[in-house]
Amino acid sequence: MNEIPIKTTCTACGGEGCLYTGRTFTLAGREHPLLTCCSACDGKGTLLSWVDMHQLVQLLYAMEVEQQIE
Ligand SMILES: [Zn+2]
Repeated sequence: MNEIPIKTTCTACGGEGCLYTGRTFTLAGREHPLLTCCSACDGKGTLLSWVDMHQLVQLLYAMEVEQQIE
């Protein structure tokens, strides 16, 4: 069966592409949060996953139901 690539938001970093380490660094007299590149999505914030038609229909149905709730 043919599979279709879909982009999903990375759950590890919430689509930010970077993660807070909880540490800070000082630059030009200011303190900045120290970020690290998200290793789960390689800093892209999105993940590419392959789904077949059956899964795609289920996803679309789930999205439709979600919109009706909102
Ligand atoms: Zn990520």
